[in-house]
Amino acid sequence: MIVEADHKHMQKAIDEAWKSADRNASSRDPRVGAVIVKGYREDAAHRSEENEGDHAEFSLICKKLRSSELLKHAVLYTTLEPCTARSHDKKPCVDWVIDSGIRRVVIGMLDPTPQICGRGYWRLLDAGVEVDFFPYELLDQLKDMNQEFVDSHRKPLLFNTAFAGLIDKNKNADISQFRGAFGFLSNLELLRTPNRREGWPLGDVLIENDEASAFNVPLELSRAYKDFFDTNYQSERLYDDGEKFMLARNPIAWEEASTLHLKTKPTKYSVHLFYYKEISQKQNLVPSLIKQLVSGDLTCQFAHSMCMHMVIATSDNKLLLTQRSPKPGYQEPGLWSCSIEEQLHRHDIEVGPENAMLAWGRRALREELSLDESAYTNQNLRLLSVFAEADRLNIALATFAELNIDSRALDLHLDNRLGEIEFGDWEFIDIEPSLLLREVFKPKRSYHHSARYRLLLAHLKRFGQPKPRELRRFGAAAGS
Ligand SMILES: [Zn+2]
Repeated sequence: MIVEADHKHMQKAIDEAWKSADRNASSRDPRVGAVIVKGYREDAAHRSEENEGDHAEFSLICKKLRSSELLKHAVLYTTLEPCTARSHDKKPCVDWVIDSGIRRVVIGMLDPTPQICGRGYWRLLDAGVEVDFFPYELLDQLKDMNQEFVDSHRKPLLFNTAFAGLIDKNKNADISQFRGAFGFLSNLELLRTPNRREGWPLGDVLIENDEASAFNVPLELSRAYKDFFDTNYQSERLYDDGEKFMLARNPIAWEEASTLHLKTKPTKYSVHLFYYKEISQKQNLVPSLIKQLVSGDLTCQFAHSMCMHMVIATSDNKLLLTQRSPKPGYQEPGLWSCSIEEQLHRHDIEVGPENAMLAWGRRALREELSLDESAYTNQNLRLLSVFAEADRLNIALATFAELNIDSRALDLHLDNRLGEIEFGDWEFIDIEPSLLLREVFKPKRSYHHSARYRLLLAHLKRFGQPKPRELRRFGAAAGS
């Protein structure tokens, strides 16, 4: 527990930390101050005080005090969590602290370095050291002095790229960004997937819907929208102008945290269709809308209907290909895809931000394939990518479902439900590296415009990044 007497020592540690500013080789090194109190005696040190890079706690314990008398049962105030790992031969500060017999440590903030974050705290607790934290009121000072250090480790998993080439429909196979995130054809991945592309379990995705700020057409486009609405009223059934949900800003995930945040807001079907059919054809508007999405304040300034594309893998290692119904009223009839499609519905949102994504995915399986939970486990439903279909001004989610039934069972199941399922035809292909790459780069079927991107994701998930040799076989260039 923090008591009144702690305050002056905590402030002293912060003041001390500021002194480490001048000698820092790089602003990405943290400023750290440490204070040790024993009885009426108070000693302080800061990072790089004597030698460049020396940690504050190390300096204080090993260079300044060195006396077991002054350390045993003392209290250490440090602005940053003591480190748990140092370059090969050095003993980390947390061990110096424990070995010196310090009885209590008051920490300013956890070290944002993923290799340390929280480990120092737990090591101290395990060793029987009492641990407290600086109060919230001091956090601003701590963050201010180390903003760049914090930012450099707490990077959002955000993909930021030179997108100009990617929105050129004629530009082929731009997979130059295969390290981490990438774009392919006109599909631009908006964030990097953690854990070697295992993706997020749908239960780790948060969908926060902002009811208060529905997306409307901006004033300068309102005339064009009205014309579009009147012209397409009958043919596009705009009288039935239902609610859609769109991603309102770029997805956010932090490298050290598993949760992915999606912020959504409502819009109208007719507004989405206006952007999809009209604005996406105006090539002077598209680049700036995409640029706003991936840079600047990361907001999405175009209406879309955030479709989930779920790739289906069966237990015998086959992938389901589906063919869009040739019936009128379906977009892009007759094209093949490697997934089922479902849009976010109000029912999904109503189960709450933590459960919405899983509800959405489960509903996709139920409504598109009439599969219930006996056919899969929730952990095997994963979100692999949030991506912009840049040339269509659409944002879509690629998810991957590994079923626990085999392709024969699924085939029979679908045969028995012909009246219920939305797509016209289906096939299974082996999930096998060269076969997937062939479908990506030398497709045998006429695919939906982002299907080959999702086949590539399936390849990445199962087999990792294709080797340059494999890419050359299909005439695709490995990126620079
Ligand atoms: Zn240290």
